[in-house]
Formats: sequence, C-alpha cells, structure tokens
Amino acid sequence: MRYLTADYIFPISQPPIKNGIVVVDDEGRIIGVHCPQTIGHSIEEFKGILCPGFVNTHCHLELSHMKGVIPEKTRLAGFIKNFISARKQFSPQQIENGIAAGEKEILENGIVAVGDICNVTDTFMQKAKKNLKYYNFIEGFDFFPENTETELKRVNNVIEELMQIDARANYSSVPHAPYSVSEKYFQTFSKTLPDKIITIHNQESAEENLMFREKKGKIIEFFTSLGMNFSNWKASGKNSLESYLTFLPKANNLLLVHNIFTNSDDIKFAEAYSKNIYWATCPNANLYIENKLPDYNLFIAAGAKMTIGTDSLASNYSLSILDELKTISSYFPELKLEMLLQWATLNGAKALGFQNELGSFEVGKNPGVLLIENVDLQKIHLKENSRVKRLV
Ligand SMILES: [Zn+2]
Repeated sequence: MRYLTADYIFPISQPPIKNGIVVVDDEGRIIGVHCPQTIGHSIEEFKGILCPGFVNTHCHLELSHMKGVIPEKTRLAGFIKNFISARKQFSPQQIENGIAAGEKEILENGIVAVGDICNVTDTFMQKAKKNLKYYNFIEGFDFFPENTETELKRVNNVIEELMQIDARANYSSVPHAPYSVSEKYFQTFSKTLPDKIITIHNQESAEENLMFREKKGKIIEFFTSLGMNFSNWKASGKNSLESYLTFLPKANNLLLVHNIFTNSDDIKFAEAYSKNIYWATCPNANLYIENKLPDYNLFIAAGAKMTIGTDSLASNYSLSILDELKTISSYFPELKLEMLLQWATLNGAKALGFQNELGSFEVGKNPGVLLIENVDLQKIHLKENSRVKRLV
C-alpha cells in the first residue's frame, strides 16, 4: 500500500483537495481518497499536484516516424498534399521504430489510454505488448459511392488482422472526415455493431464548411487536381457537421475531432441531436496545420463534453497531453486547471468507454497517479515549465 500526498490532489470525481492523500494498493488500485489527516503509515510527499493518468482521445501512432517532415501552417489542403507525397518515403523499419518510440513517449508523458486512428495494420504488434490501453479506430474513406464496398472490404481486412494479433483488442470501423466519405459510406459503415465508438475528423478547416455550403474551396480543388470527379457530389448548403451528423446513430458515443471551425449553432445542433457526443481538441496540431484554435468558450457555454488529443507526430512536436493543456492555458488563461484536467482524464475515459477503470481517483479504479510539478500554486495554473511524471 502507498500513501501519496502533494500540495493538491485532483481526484476529478470531486473538487481538488489541498494536501489530500490518495491511497493505492500494490496493483495501483485506488483504496481511498482523504482530506489531510494523521495516518499511522509513512506518507510519500510531493511538491505539485497529483491527478489520474491522462487519456489521449485522438492519435495516429502509425505516423510517429513523420515528426518534423511536413511544413507547418500550410492549412489543411496544403498539409494533405504534403502528407501524401511524404508518406511514401519511409521503410518498414523506420515506421516500426517510429511506432515504438511514439509509444515510449506516450508512456513517459503519463498517458494511460489512447484512442488511436489506424488506416493500416502497422501498430498492431506494438499494441499487443499491452503497455497501455488502446481503442483502435479503423478508418476508411471512399470519397464516392462507387468505392464504398471496396473500401469497407479493405477496412474489414485491417480489422481481421487486428483480431488475429489480439482477439480482445478494442476497435471500431469509422469514417475519416466529412469531405472524404460518401453518404453511402456513412449509411453502411455503422450498421455493424451497436456498442462501438465512432469518431470522425470534424470541421478542421474553413474550407470544409465552404465545400458543404457552396461546393467550392481548396479541399475540393485539391482532390479535383488529383483527378477525382465531383460532378455528382452535391453541396448541402449547410456547414459540414449539420450535413452529415444525422447519418450517424445517436446511441453510440461519437467523438468529433478538431472542431476548429465549429460555431455555436453547430454545437447546439449536435448537442440537441445526441447526448453521447464528445468533442476532442488537439490544439498543438491545430496550430501546426491551421494556425488557429477552436473557441473553447462556445463549447463550455453549451455544456459540451471536451476531451484532449495529441493527433500524430506528422502535425505535432510531442505526444503529450500536458503540452496540449499548456497551449490551451496560454491562449485561454481564464480556463480553470480543474476543468482542463477533467477534459484530459475522466471525459476522455468516458468517451472511449474506459470510465470504470480510468479517469478519476475513485475507489476500485486503476487510473494511474501522475505528479505535475512546477505548477503556479497561487493561481492553480500551469506554467511553461510544468512537467509530468507517472508515480503509479
Ligand atoms: Zn487525426
């Protein structure tokens, strides 16, 4: 049994406790959370704050070898263009080494679970080592209905390979983005299993809304330049989210990722449609690609459930939830650390269906215990040099 204390503990399931004590057994299970008191046991004391392990709700571990390869701030169409040509340059060994190094970085940064996008099978052997929990989102894109069946077959082959490597792995089949998936794909991919979690890249670019509103802009221009024919593709006249959301089932957890160009009407529309929507934000990738962040105040005002993702090393310099929180704190200093840590822990655990085990210091859970050091303890605010270490 270990008794751990620090300047503050953030159990997440209840308000922060100054000099609180968290008790864990030898397996890391939470035995108790206490106010300061004398305990007939030696207590390990730390400077800073203790919180549960982080949950990263959006990553592409399979792209970890692409760190620093793609130029910054090219906007989404520029990023995709550079990405397509850059992805071909790497050997299987480089890809495998990148995945192992990426996972190591994830673990060192106190992340205990990852919602990970998979286009291909590259990460499955590493994940089978069970160094941490994953939810695998097997992602497809058909663009046009004539490609739907072939793409769904390809996705099913990826799933079959995952099942051969680890029959108990968590997975679902998901659509990539509104602009890369046909209505037929939306209608068919989700018919399979009712308990699955769905995720989609949403409103990552202003051009995506423009495409759905007016059938123009850089995304459609770029794909047309690749030889794709959009003559049968119809604009809905609405923002992208309102154009596709109702194709998705209400009962499944739905994790919308990025949401940079999501306005308050979009949020209200989505929240009215389903109570199971989570909004993943990946601020460092948003700055890398679009040089813009979502307006978090709109989401908070609507009571939206926010989670944090790192996206991949193709569009980020680290796989660190704390780095994402620091960015949010520096652009939105009024947001309270208690709320940001809830986004980074319990909300993410709920979005991925891991809330019985992870996300808060509640008796019986095994969420991991993190120490965040160099925190401004007067304002209870992260600093540029705040750092995280996993204790349990
Ligand atoms: Zn992504």
